[in-house]
Amino acid sequence: MPPRVRIAPSPTGDPHVGTAYIALFNYAFAKKHGGTFILRIEDTDQTRSTASSEVAIYDALRWLGLDWDEGPDVGGDRGPYRQSERTAIYREHVQTLIDNGTAYRCFCTSERLAQMRAEQERNKQNPRYDGHCRGLDPKDAQSRAAAGEPHVIRLRVPEEGETTLHDELRGPIAFQNAEIDDQVLLKSDGFPTYHLANVVDDHLMGITHVIRGEDWITSGPKHVLLYQGFGWEPPLFFHLGLLRNGDKSKLSKRKNPVSVDHYRSLGYLPSTFLNFLAILGFSMGEDRERFSLDEMVAEFEWSKVSTGGPVFDPVKLDAFSGDDIRAMDPAALRDALVEHAFGGRIDTLVELSRERINRLDDFIPYVSFFFGGEVDYAAVLPKMVPKKREKKETMKILKAYLEGIEKDDAARAFTVDGLAEFSKAFAQQHGWKPKELYPLLRCAATGRTASPSLFETLAALGKDRVRLRLRGAIEALRVAPQ
Ligand code: GLU
Repeated sequence: MPPRVRIAPSPTGDPHVGTAYIALFNYAFAKKHGGTFILRIEDTDQTRSTASSEVAIYDALRWLGLDWDEGPDVGGDRGPYRQSERTAIYREHVQTLIDNGTAYRCFCTSERLAQMRAEQERNKQNPRYDGHCRGLDPKDAQSRAAAGEPHVIRLRVPEEGETTLHDELRGPIAFQNAEIDDQVLLKSDGFPTYHLANVVDDHLMGITHVIRGEDWITSGPKHVLLYQGFGWEPPLFFHLGLLRNGDKSKLSKRKNPVSVDHYRSLGYLPSTFLNFLAILGFSMGEDRERFSLDEMVAEFEWSKVSTGGPVFDPVKLDAFSGDDIRAMDPAALRDALVEHAFGGRIDTLVELSRERINRLDDFIPYVSFFFGGEVDYAAVLPKMVPKKREKKETMKILKAYLEGIEKDDAARAFTVDGLAEFSKAFAQQHGWKPKELYPLLRCAATGRTASPSLFETLAALGKDRVRLRLRGAIEALRVAPQ
């Protein structure tokens, strides 16, 4: 039977390079064996999922050429492929688990759970459900539920013994059942949690091989128990190594840009980027690092896949990219350069510069800071710390701003209006005047003291580039003499 594999991203935030990495391995394996590559959108977290993030995932994967055979936008006969459209399916399935005792209703109030957690914290215990509702008579529980009492549904994890996850790349991994929490499967609002939805969908969609990141290993035993509870044959599990920063910590946007869109906007070729991702977990043999997607597909075997914490090294990516650019036919390179410089953003750049340039030839120097990654702060460093402020608090405010643009609803979409609204409130909240904060942000984001209006500039630079530059500015301040 040809394999059926899937990626199951949650549409929250920007399309992550980790998603592209996992997609690449799923794709290569499926194509090698004439199988099916499925895209499922796991949007059960209604507060964090957005339609724009879902579209951004499609765009990023299509840019890389990792096209899927079934998915929300292309259809397929095992849909719907968006979990928010499948809630009735999960409710129906969880009933089977209640009926056979694999799951139970829990009526604990949030106050009780908070109290329980506080007590566990005081006693230095791991936070977990204490089993208060495990012993309820199922019939009583059923009538309380029927009377409309709010409740969740939890997995009844055996108190003793162990549950083993068989990982095809790592061998068996055994977990003590006593260590596994009675996981919530269905929330009180009737929405499933990741675990329930993921297992039900993998089964109903006929997934044969689950290929995902190693951060899901700890969920593995819960999934194994769910497969047992349903009486279903589990798929084969492959947990790939997680991409890492240079210091071996999990790849994070605090240390590296993690959005595929960022690398796209810096002008890497999709084929270069894919090759760079591929070598992080796949070896062609004979130290051969450069290969195409088709070559990877042709050579794909699990024995060539390694799981040892691959480091995402931007310097290596640049080296690959430089080689690929030099190997391009001159006409193709010219077209690519013109498209990159004057493709998507040209209208915005013209609009932002027309009030400030006097000759056509001023254009390129004027907009140059909209391109490229890091900038040099040497010229603006003396002006970066506002009068009456210290270097330390200047660094601190930039760090807080970096965190703010992640968390704040108005800032997250990175529109001119949203940034203006967020920044004004941010300044007030931190006791900074806009006339202190805004010039600092301008210097940090552009490496210049003058630019078009601040929020238009930030929006046109894009979130990833701004994040990269603010981090660069913090570092420049850190190493600068007092
Ligand atoms: N929704 C999960 C994610 O965001 C899917 C994990 C899995 O592949 O099981 O990565």
